[in-house]
Amino acid sequence: MIPKDLNTFRSEVREYAQSRVRERAAHQDATESFDAEVALELAQKGWLGISAPTKLGGGGKPATWVYAAVEELAAEEIAAASVLTGQFTLVSDLLARESPSLAKRWVPQIFQGAANGCYALTEPDAGSNPAQLSTQVEQRGDSLVVTGQKMWITNGNIADFAIVYGKETEQIGAYLVPLDDSTVTRQPIHGKMGFRASDTAELSFLGTVIPIENRIGELGQGLHVALRTLDNGRVGIAALATGALSGIKARLAKAAKESGSQRAMATLADTETGLAVSRALLGSALARKEAGERFTKEAAMAKWRATASAVAAANALMETESPTSPYTERMFRDVRVMELFEGTSEIQKLIIGFAATGVKAFT
Ligand SMILES: Cc1cc2nc3c(=O)[nH]c(=O)nc-3n(C[C@H](O)[C@H](O)[C@H](O)COP(=O)(O)OP(=O)(O)OC[C@H]3O[C@@H](n4cnc5c(N)ncnc54)[C@H](O)[C@@H]3O)c2cc1C
Repeated sequence: MIPKDLNTFRSEVREYAQSRVRERAAHQDATESFDAEVALELAQKGWLGISAPTKLGGGGKPATWVYAAVEELAAEEIAAASVLTGQFTLVSDLLARESPSLAKRWVPQIFQGAANGCYALTEPDAGSNPAQLSTQVEQRGDSLVVTGQKMWITNGNIADFAIVYGKETEQIGAYLVPLDDSTVTRQPIHGKMGFRASDTAELSFLGTVIPIENRIGELGQGLHVALRTLDNGRVGIAALATGALSGIKARLAKAAKESGSQRAMATLADTETGLAVSRALLGSALARKEAGERFTKEAAMAKWRATASAVAAANALMETESPTSPYTERMFRDVRVMELFEGTSEIQKLIIGFAATGVKAFT
């Protein structure tokens, strides 16, 4: 039963994060394994779809609810929290917005924990500039044939389908491609520095045939679909980083109270301020999103500042607590990754600069 008010909901998620997620996090990280049990529980509790429309099996709450859950989970383990951001912002929300028929088929299953999707934009030679992608899509009658390679795909080994971006007659499109097909190969990526409990894969499509109905939106609109989705994704990363910051801050506050030293107070002040700025930027991006306004610049600002503050705070925690503390060491590695995906910090600055000047300095 979902509580009626946001504060009670937050407390419920915090309690789960501080018991269930906390006790499993070190093991999942050490063994580089995705926590399928926690992922299923998040769906069964109704938290995965908490902010999605009820007609798609969601909870119908405002977007602030899902990001509150993301923050509370990320304070303990960023990888567990990223189950919500991955399945909600990058997959379900995208399908709900861009393709009602595909959403009807897949999204309720995702919210029940019966299916998983992944978002496949990056390629070995196309990361920061997705327009350079080389995956090809060819129409043959009522079918489409997908050929190409995707890199660093979160949940790629466990997902039932991927939202793949490719070029069809030189125009970028987005396509829902089921992964249970002999023409699809999935190569797990192990040995990552951070996000080790998050599943990552290299995907190859060797002439994978899909029905034409699996094209998402209009042909030629694929890059717009990708970029709109990344705006949502960046808000999700900002929430992950804000949650990590609040978890780290609680530990720095404890240390500052115990030592009472000027150095500990200064470190805490930095983190406390970084957290306040991150929350304000996240709130401003979410307010625009909820009002149906464009929030590209606000999402970029929120992601950039929250991830930078989280990296600084994790550094400070490393110098405050024993670096052998599993929490400290894991956070130190995990927060850094958030500065990279869904656009590196350099790219966020170019997006903010473009919004302020109208000048594209990307190349
Ligand atoms: C753990 C993990 C999970 C990921 N999950 C997904 C996923 O689910 N789906 C997906 O599609 N992708 C995913 N990615 C890929 C991620 O989005 C890319 O790694 C990221 O966009 C950067 O691309 P790249 O690695 O090719 O780096 P590059 O684009 O090669 O960049 C290398 C460096 O050059 C800098 N740079 C590049 N262009 C410019 C420029 N114009 N101006 C200034 N500096 C520049 C970058 O900031 C960076 O420091 C994931 C990555 C990781 C590490």
